[in-house]
Amino acid sequence: MSLTVVGSIAFDAVKTPSGVRERMLGGAATHFALGASFFDDIRVVGPVGDDFDEDAWRVLRTRGTITDDVEHVPGGKTFFWKGEYHDNLNSRDTIETDLNVFEGFEPKLSDAARACHVLFLANIQPDLQRGVREQCTGARFVAMDSMDLWIKIARESLEATIRGVDCLILNDEELELLTGKPTVLAAAQEILGWGPTAVVAKLGKYGAALYTAEGVFAVPAYPLETVVDPTGAGDSFAGGFVGYVAAQRDEDITHDLLSTAMAYGTAVASFNVEAFGTERVEQLTAGEIAERVVDLQRMTSFSAEPVALRG
Ligand code: AMP
Repeated sequence: MSLTVVGSIAFDAVKTPSGVRERMLGGAATHFALGASFFDDIRVVGPVGDDFDEDAWRVLRTRGTITDDVEHVPGGKTFFWKGEYHDNLNSRDTIETDLNVFEGFEPKLSDAARACHVLFLANIQPDLQRGVREQCTGARFVAMDSMDLWIKIARESLEATIRGVDCLILNDEELELLTGKPTVLAAAQEILGWGPTAVVAKLGKYGAALYTAEGVFAVPAYPLETVVDPTGAGDSFAGGFVGYVAAQRDEDITHDLLSTAMAYGTAVASFNVEAFGTERVEQLTAGEIAERVVDLQRMTSFSAEPVALRG
């Protein structure tokens, strides 16, 4: 049994107030796998080109991530993305997206990848996401991400894909854009009506919120003095969140279980943003994650003695 992720494997060029990197390993599936590899056996599905070097393979295989389903396209170039962050780090401009081997990508899953018990559909064209989802018939939990582009140009397909998963993970603005609702709560309720049993709203530097039929659970972002590079924060959050769920094989996937998973996602993402690209999460240890989860537990719980209120 394992956790399968399908999505981009990339080289990224990034400029943030802390500095510049011209070319480093990135991609949604990469950041997800690095975070999720603390919890389960991870299989990555995605294409790479001839330029995908030994060092990139080494990083992708951190903590035993299985790369048998990574498709090497002979003569091709790996997906390339270039982004620049604004001073507040909560917004960025995409300067360049070279799809390269990602153009015409058709995910091919081995029997082992299809037999996953948990599946994460990272941000790719929603028809492709749905195709993969339909192949993984035995998965007990399927989560997905998407982006504004697909909401704008492939809304119907995206909605059909969302209807087939258990959990949608999107940022707050995307949730509102997708549903036309004016608040994240209203948007989440609308999507819970489509079929998923959970919606996670990523709120950038403010953290993340979980919505299920049982209620709402919010986690702040882990407080950091310095953020170096937010690239991949959403995907490493998803890696910690979905990874935690995958590790709870015999448990029912309840609101409480997903709330704990939110803390793991938040902890993993907080390390991701402390350095460029994959640099920090490559070196991360299980003990460091556990410490931040304990801190988050302290931050999100309080004892409330009832007081007599006026009025
Ligand atoms: P995040 O910061 O969580 O949105 O993830 C950023 C990662 O997603 C980067 O490492 C990029 O390589 C990758 N990425 C950027 N644009 C796309 C896209 N259109 N499709 C798939 N992956 C992308």
